[in-house]
Amino acid sequence: MKITNVQATVLKTMSIFVQVYTDEGVVGIGECSPMNSAVIANFVNTALKPLVIGENPLEIDKLWNKMTFRTYKLGVQGIQQEAIAGIDIALWDILGKVAGLPIHTLLGGCYRDKVMMYASIGGGADMTVIQMVNRVENYLNQGFKAIKIRMDWGAMRQDFDVKKDYEMFKAVKELIGDDIPLSFDANNGYSVSTAISQGRRFEQLGIYHYEEPVAQYDYAGIAKVADALDVPVSAGEHEYTRWQFRDLIEQAKVDIIQPDVVKCGGISEMVKIAVLGSVYNKHFVPHQTQPTIGTAANLHICCAMPNANRPQEFTGRNPQLDDLFIEPLIFDDGYIHVPQKPGLGLEIDEEKMKAFAL
Ligand code: CA
Repeated sequence: MKITNVQATVLKTMSIFVQVYTDEGVVGIGECSPMNSAVIANFVNTALKPLVIGENPLEIDKLWNKMTFRTYKLGVQGIQQEAIAGIDIALWDILGKVAGLPIHTLLGGCYRDKVMMYASIGGGADMTVIQMVNRVENYLNQGFKAIKIRMDWGAMRQDFDVKKDYEMFKAVKELIGDDIPLSFDANNGYSVSTAISQGRRFEQLGIYHYEEPVAQYDYAGIAKVADALDVPVSAGEHEYTRWQFRDLIEQAKVDIIQPDVVKCGGISEMVKIAVLGSVYNKHFVPHQTQPTIGTAANLHICCAMPNANRPQEFTGRNPQLDDLFIEPLIFDDGYIHVPQKPGLGLEIDEEKMKAFAL
């Protein structure tokens, strides 16, 4: 079996879908992180495609190493692994289709056939407290049983409006009560001392996890926050590969690791990161904001990890993207049903995707 073509397509949502074609007619699908979409799609179509054409698509780890170390000078963080992720996920899809098995079976077995998802609600920096409360209420009405609010402070960090963040968390907590887990994502927006004092106040109200409290590159600072607080501190969406997660675990001492399958090098690398996390007894709660292929790939891994028992990230359904699939993922009463068909268990409607391409 040989790879005959690779195509990354940027869609109107800026999502990047990747298709890997073979000489036996099996086509695998994958996805890359959508930030800087044109650059990443170009990386797939120009730098990676020539490396995998003619190769056996079933030799996934061998191809991951070839793609990684033949493009090493183009950067081992960011774009390089985000591009590789798209092809790697598609190769796992091909392997599953050839074997006639869902990816989670290839990874060792499915511990849960549906996964509780938490609503990941961003944009807190630009919202009033009332606006955020209204948005949370909307997600509760969709059936979500766990919530995270994200501040998305961006360039305004750090410690821009700590009081409002607290008022927002408190108001959401009052709305949802104690039975629905509420997490807070500072999006790297606090100094160490503020992260600790704010974290203590959140703990008094009841907080489920505390995400990226300080700058992602400040491992020593993250460790101080994790040491000072009882709440599980999380990070990892800015990390790529097992080697960075080794440092995040050993130096930043996070309680929860959050690799992203469409960023960190795909399924092959994320499984290694999950196993590494299990060595250190860490919770596994991946970052994931792509609601179709990315979420499916993520859930195949999560359901195959015995310790991934916390609710997983979901930004909510996107009807425009769901419409591109013959059978979209099923979100029902706060849970997504893990696909059981071979490979990822998702099939793209080619005509619809072409019409939705940028
Ligand atoms: Ca986050």
